[in-house]
Amino acid sequence: MSEMNELFYKNPYLTSFDAIVTSCETVKKGYEITLSDTCFYPEGGGQPADLGTLNGISVLDVQRKKDGTIVHLTDTPFETGLTVHGEIDWPHRFSLMQNHSGEHIVSGLIHKKFGYDNVGYHMSDVITLDLSGPLTWDELMEIERETNQVIWDNRPINIIYPSDAEIENLDYRSKKELSGKIRIVEIPDADLCACCGTHVYRTGEIGLVKFLSMINYKGGVRIEMVAGDLALKDYDRKLSSNQVIQRLLCLKPDEIAEGVKKILDESQNKDLKIAAINKKYNELKIASLPNDQKILLDFEDDLNGIELRKFCDSLKNSGKASISAVFCVSNANTDGEPPAISYCIGSSGPDLKKISKELNTEFNGKGGGSSEMIQGTFYTDRKKLEAEFSTFLKNLLSL
Ligand SMILES: [Zn+2]
Repeated sequence: MSEMNELFYKNPYLTSFDAIVTSCETVKKGYEITLSDTCFYPEGGGQPADLGTLNGISVLDVQRKKDGTIVHLTDTPFETGLTVHGEIDWPHRFSLMQNHSGEHIVSGLIHKKFGYDNVGYHMSDVITLDLSGPLTWDELMEIERETNQVIWDNRPINIIYPSDAEIENLDYRSKKELSGKIRIVEIPDADLCACCGTHVYRTGEIGLVKFLSMINYKGGVRIEMVAGDLALKDYDRKLSSNQVIQRLLCLKPDEIAEGVKKILDESQNKDLKIAAINKKYNELKIASLPNDQKILLDFEDDLNGIELRKFCDSLKNSGKASISAVFCVSNANTDGEPPAISYCIGSSGPDLKKISKELNTEFNGKGGGSSEMIQGTFYTDRKKLEAEFSTFLKNLLSL
C-alpha cells in the first residue's frame, strides 16, 4: 500500500501543498514522481487526472499504480528528498467536481426511478453517460427538472465509510468492484454510491445540470450532459452562435427558428423561379439556333453540371442536329491555370461512348457517359474548340 497522504480525500478544496519527493523514475514519456503527500487526484472512477505544477514544472498526468501508489508525470526530473511545492489547476478540478457531483444526482435519480445502472461514463467538454435501459426524451426532461431541484435544495454531499455489517444492508450503486474500506457518497434522497472521486460539499455548488442529447445505445441510452462551468460555457457558445445568426438575418432573439424557416422557404421559391426562367431561356435559345445541322456547337456561361446537362438534353431532343455539343467556360485563364471548359455532348445518331476517349485525348479532357450523351471537362481554350472541334468530330465519325 501507498504511504502517500492523499490530501484530496481529506480536503477536496485544497489547492496547494508542500511535500517531499520520495522517488523519481525515468519512463518513456518523462519522469514519474512520487511524493510524501499530494492533492493531485489520479485518473480514476471516470474522473480525469488533475493538472497543475510541482515547483512551477507542469504535471502532465497523474495515475494510480496497481499497488496504490500515485505517480506524477513531468518532463523534468526531481531529486529524491527535495521539498516541492505543488499547486493544482483549481478551475479544472472544480469543474470536474461540479460535473462529477451532478452526474451522481442524475444517475442516482434514474436508478431510483427506473432501476437502470450507469454502465459507462466519460468526462471531457461534455459528460457522456451510458445507462442500461431505455428512456424517452420527456422522461429525461423530468429527470433534469428533479436534478436541478436537488441542486437548488443545496443538499449536503456526504462521504461515509460504513462498517462491514452496515454495508451488508446498504442498497448502494457501485461503479466497480472495490476492495478494502468502501467509500460511499450520499446525497440525501438522490444517490447512494460507492465512489473514489472528488465531490463538492453541497449540491448548490453544481449550479445547473443540462442534458444536451440522448441516443439509443446498446439496449439503453447514451446521454450527453453538462453541469456547472461546462453548462455556462455551453450556454455562452450557443448564445454567441444564435447572436451571429440573429444579426446576419436581422431576427429577434425569440424568432430565430421561425425566421430561418421563412428564409429557407423563400430560398426554395427562388430556386423554383430560377428553374422556370432557365427553362424559358433554354427554349428561346434553342429556337434561335439553326436547324438541320450535323454538328451544332453552343457556348454558354455560368451553367452548373445539372443545368448544362438539361440544356444539352433539350437541344438534343429538339432535333436540330444529329450531334449537339454545349460548352461552358468554368474559369478564366488566370495565373497559368489551364482554361477549363465543361462539356455535354448529346447524339441522336452516332455512338458517343466509342469516341469519348479520343475526344478527351485530343482536347486534353476527362469525362464520359452513355452512347447518347457524354459529359466532362476539356482543359483547352474556346478558340481551339471553335476552330477544330467540328472537323475533328466529323472525321472521327465520318459524317
Ligand atoms: Zn463520485
